[in-house]
Amino acid sequence: MLGLMQDKPLMISSIITHAARHHARAEVVSKTVEGAIHRSTYGEIERRARRLVRVLQRLDIGPSDRVATLAWNGFRHLELYYAISGMGAVCHTINPRLSADDIAFIANDAGDQVIFADTTFAPLIAAVAPAVRASVRAVVFMTERAHMPDIALPEGMDLLCYEELMAAADEDFAWPAFDERTAASLCYTSGTTGRPKGVLYSHRSTLLHAYALNMPDVFALRAVDRVLPVVPMFHVNAWGTPYAAPMVGASLIMPGRHLDGASLTQLMNEERVTISAGVPTVWLGLLAHLRASGQRLETVERFVIGGSACPRLLFEAFDKEYGIRVDHAWGMSELSPLGTYNTPTPGNQNLTGEALMRRREKQGRSLFGVDIRIIDDAGRELPWDGATSGHLQARGYWVCSSYFGGTPGDALDAEGWFSTGDVATIDAEGNMEITDRSKDVIKSGGEWISSIQLENIAVSHPDVAEAAIIAATHPKWDERPLLLVVARQGRTIDRDSVLRVYEGRVAKWWVPDDVVVVDELPHTATGKIQKLALREAWRGHLLAKG
Ligand code: AMP
Repeated sequence: MLGLMQDKPLMISSIITHAARHHARAEVVSKTVEGAIHRSTYGEIERRARRLVRVLQRLDIGPSDRVATLAWNGFRHLELYYAISGMGAVCHTINPRLSADDIAFIANDAGDQVIFADTTFAPLIAAVAPAVRASVRAVVFMTERAHMPDIALPEGMDLLCYEELMAAADEDFAWPAFDERTAASLCYTSGTTGRPKGVLYSHRSTLLHAYALNMPDVFALRAVDRVLPVVPMFHVNAWGTPYAAPMVGASLIMPGRHLDGASLTQLMNEERVTISAGVPTVWLGLLAHLRASGQRLETVERFVIGGSACPRLLFEAFDKEYGIRVDHAWGMSELSPLGTYNTPTPGNQNLTGEALMRRREKQGRSLFGVDIRIIDDAGRELPWDGATSGHLQARGYWVCSSYFGGTPGDALDAEGWFSTGDVATIDAEGNMEITDRSKDVIKSGGEWISSIQLENIAVSHPDVAEAAIIAATHPKWDERPLLLVVARQGRTIDRDSVLRVYEGRVAKWWVPDDVVVVDELPHTATGKIQKLALREAWRGHLLAKG
């Protein structure tokens, strides 16, 4: 017997229609690439998204077609999110920090028909266009006529202006309902090894993920919040915030292209931001700015930090010096991205001092909707004792089952688990802690050493700005940890003083064998340290040293 409740498919358009009807005046504030602040509301975003569907139809876009965006966080990008998915097409957010070669590869792989781009990416579009002419028919710059870049596109590829197309369209469009499993958006992984792979989200997975983000022990957004996603809309849909915020009527503050400490401080104070989310690098920059300028963040209550392990320094500094709570989260493109979030349970809510800090450094508990487990090399499940580490797997409502172009289920094992490629421990309270990527773990004399833990300790040294631990080849132990560090501006690094920070914090045999000072560390397009490149360059360092 079936239940007798209304059977409405979970549609992304329902988020923006709800926001437009019940939170019509909640704001969408954008720092535009031209420099001015633009103010909109959910009411207006929904209306313009309907108009934009008409534009897409005029450009011959239909259900399942891929429409690419190459853009910062801003109101037009939000309109595109809702218009493209809402009409049944697929919004493919391209990461502009990838190389032109990778961008051409993924635009062709996705079969993008039209690219919507911010004007700042005009040179990138000019470089990529000849290589994507087989599938891309038009480039639309997300601006008014007066700011249109003057670039040459290959023959047959139109150069169009967003606001001109909008002015010529009508709003006479009703959001359709269709199968909630329909593809809604596409995001390619950063491709640290090999070519990027596409993760294809559905309306259903996106909606359920947004619901989960809004649970009390997770992002817990409220109608009175003013949310600033520093994480770009081209990085796993800004972690779902463009869906979670309108779902509850929270205002969105879109920072555009300038994500440095000074720009963020100004925007956060002027727009009374209450919560923000992004990767550790951004917060390290913001902290450095606050300390140097003496400025305060007047209204911010909380930062959500994820994407890489959050260094202890950020918990301590923001809590103690600025009264801002830092929440640690873990996820990945294949998980939409959120998998775990670190908030207390009855079993650990009264911890203090070092024990509390250790809890907060962990990546957190699994959200309802995603299950996790750790397994050994033979596939056996490992205990939740907070010490045994193994390969982390996940399964759930918003975990990928296959990559774009694959067959459903081909990225899963026989029991339906997706292997994350991370190595982790899980403690008795269910708190997961990433110790490494499977390919970055250091195997010293058969025992595993966590590179993440060693990096976190290294950056607690006052002279160290950034640190990377890699496995260097060792004649006796196979591999030993080698520490590469970048000095803070105006400081010099003393090797022995850096090694002393490990005393009493890790077992003696975990302490790195050497410290190398470098000018900079290579980063991927999503801001993670490129360990592979470092390993290739420095693997032989200990052998050469003798
Ligand atoms: P991406 O798909 O580009 O978002 O990268 C996902 C990967 O980033 C994960 O598999 C982890 O290796 C890493 N990651 C994400 N969040 C964290 C975190 N809080 N701590 C440590 N690593 C993280």
